[in-house]
Amino acid sequence: MSTLADNLHAIRTRIDGAAKASHRDPASVQLLAVSKTKPASAIAELHRAGVRDFGENYLQEALTKQTELSDLPLIWHFIGPIQSNKTKAIAEHFDWVHSVDRLKIAQRLSDQRPTDLPPLNICLQVNVSGEDSKSGCTPEQLPALAQAVAALPNLRLRGLMAIPEPTDDPAAQHAAFARLRQLQEALGLGLDSLSMGMSHDLEAAIAQGATWVRIGTALFGARDYGHA
Ligand SMILES: *Cc1c(COP(=O)(O)O)cnc(C)c1O
Repeated sequence: MSTLADNLHAIRTRIDGAAKASHRDPASVQLLAVSKTKPASAIAELHRAGVRDFGENYLQEALTKQTELSDLPLIWHFIGPIQSNKTKAIAEHFDWVHSVDRLKIAQRLSDQRPTDLPPLNICLQVNVSGEDSKSGCTPEQLPALAQAVAALPNLRLRGLMAIPEPTDDPAAQHAAFARLRQLQEALGLGLDSLSMGMSHDLEAAIAQGATWVRIGTALFGARDYGHA
């Protein structure tokens, strides 16, 4: 087996184990392969191994790979910070956006979503660790933002996303993910998606209800950002 197929097998084993440990159906946890900085060839290889969903952070890089891979039925997720001048291309070229954290961006995505495409699936990014992380709305801002986004015509609000501060302390991992789940439940909107958990903390995320785990390093190996 290739390294990618080996890594995929190992990740699926971790997801299955974590799901079973919390009495969840492993099929209720979806794998989002985070392919930023990785070549189209690696995406194609994972697709042959059965992966369908890919997450990208950098718009131009993603568009280039989408063109190269246009013959494959892939589902593309945008997971990086969003500037206003990028919303049109994101609305046109992605199926999901996990990193919406303000209404202005959501309004532009809805306005710019082509009407011949299904509504764009949206997760609202919430800053659950406080401190100085720049991305994500605050828990206090979330209810009003969620109500407003749910009302936009060309978006489908699916759930919440978080990137907690990295920590090796399982109790702290669990607390951050539990917070996101509780915020989602408190909204009372019947949202079905919780995008939380990365290579180092997917077990805690799954125990706390993750429906998407976003996995980069453990699948593709360490990222090399080069000199760009
Ligand atoms: C890069 C990235 C990931 C993947 O992180 P790994 O630790 O490499 O698994 C997940 N989510 C977001 C938003 C990212 O930017």
